[in-house]
Amino acid sequence: MPIRSAASATVKVPEAMPSEAATIIVLKKTKLGETDLIVTGFSAAGRQVRAVAKGGRKPGSRTGAHLELFCVSEVLLGKGRNLDVVSEARILDANLGCRQDVEHSAAAGAVVELLDKVSQDGTVEERLFAMAREALRCIGSVEIGGLELSCAAALLKIAAQIGLCPELGACAVCGATTDGGDTPVFLDIPQGGIICQQCRHEHPYTQQPLISKELRLWLCNLLSLRFSDLEPYATGKYQPLGRQCLQIAQQWLSCHLNLSLKSLDFLLTS
Ligand SMILES: [Zn+2]
Repeated sequence: MPIRSAASATVKVPEAMPSEAATIIVLKKTKLGETDLIVTGFSAAGRQVRAVAKGGRKPGSRTGAHLELFCVSEVLLGKGRNLDVVSEARILDANLGCRQDVEHSAAAGAVVELLDKVSQDGTVEERLFAMAREALRCIGSVEIGGLELSCAAALLKIAAQIGLCPELGACAVCGATTDGGDTPVFLDIPQGGIICQQCRHEHPYTQQPLISKELRLWLCNLLSLRFSDLEPYATGKYQPLGRQCLQIAQQWLSCHLNLSLKSLDFLLTS
């Protein structure tokens, strides 16, 4: 679908150049030459897109302004020699709230960093786009005290959608149903989730922190609830719980994807 809007930034493209429209979340911007940019995005089709925005770093560039970090933008991409070229760009969601301070930027930054890493190998995962778009909307809307809970939800949901969902309902090793009552359970991240007493004794070499019934329930909630349902809890009141969930998400990504996200490290130490 061609993009036509008074607000669009337009660069003249030779008519013969085939072009393709895409809706992307802007994940990263890299300098290229004196005034150009390479924009990395995650598209609604579920794949990573890299394209050159010519003149995107010139002062007052309208193309650059429509491709700010965390924006959801509609772009028209023409085929370039090596990379695609952005010929038009128009913001759909500015997500200004994600850029309001360093804390919000760090939480949103962790989400786009993870999206960048999991899509680098050309993997196509269509369902990630709508979820990530909603995650950024949520992070941009909540107060600072709710950032950790929102960010933890986003990171765990992304992990789950690429097939790395923590097992929280039954023992991750033997599949035995664990006590869903008040008993705290052991979380064995390398083994893939909570583990039963028996398996715990058989794997004494891994660290198995005891997690409370409440924390286990919240990890389940972060994975199953929509962001609109989680948002009322993303407040200072639940910040300690949010931090615990985010620390678990950090350990999970480190263990199962061998990832260390700079923005996440910053958020957890700020
Ligand atoms: Zn077991």
